[in-house]
Amino acid sequence: MHCPFCGIQDTKVIDSRLVADGASVRRRRECNQCRERFTTFETAELVMPRVIKSDGSREPFNEDKLRNGLLRALEKRPVSLEVMEQAIHNIKSSLRATGEREISSHEVGNLVMENLKSIDKVAYIRFASVYRAFEDIREFGEEIARLND
Ligand SMILES: [Zn+2]
Repeated sequence: MHCPFCGIQDTKVIDSRLVADGASVRRRRECNQCRERFTTFETAELVMPRVIKSDGSREPFNEDKLRNGLLRALEKRPVSLEVMEQAIHNIKSSLRATGEREISSHEVGNLVMENLKSIDKVAYIRFASVYRAFEDIREFGEEIARLND
């Protein structure tokens, strides 16, 4: 890569180490011309599948949208942000693990529900009631009853 100081392409790596539990590599580089040193980080770019919406249109996976949905479901619930971020991480890993290039929003919703179910039952019901749009109050009651199994 180009030296950020003088722009020449001739730089060398003088140190290289794993950071963030091995998720990225930090490299110390030195420019062979101006001798300035700088640091680069290398992280794998992980491709998320695109989301097929119910009307058939496609959109890129949107992590903010997922986070907002979870925040809404978890509002005023005794669940830490850390636990929520872990859930986002789990959902993204599951989506990537499908190996699919496109995935339906329905499947994404199911994954979110699965994760919420193990975190907080109230949040799960909140999310499910919006996402599944329960047809009637009886269906909603049945879902709640199943949670006690
Ligand atoms: Zn330079």
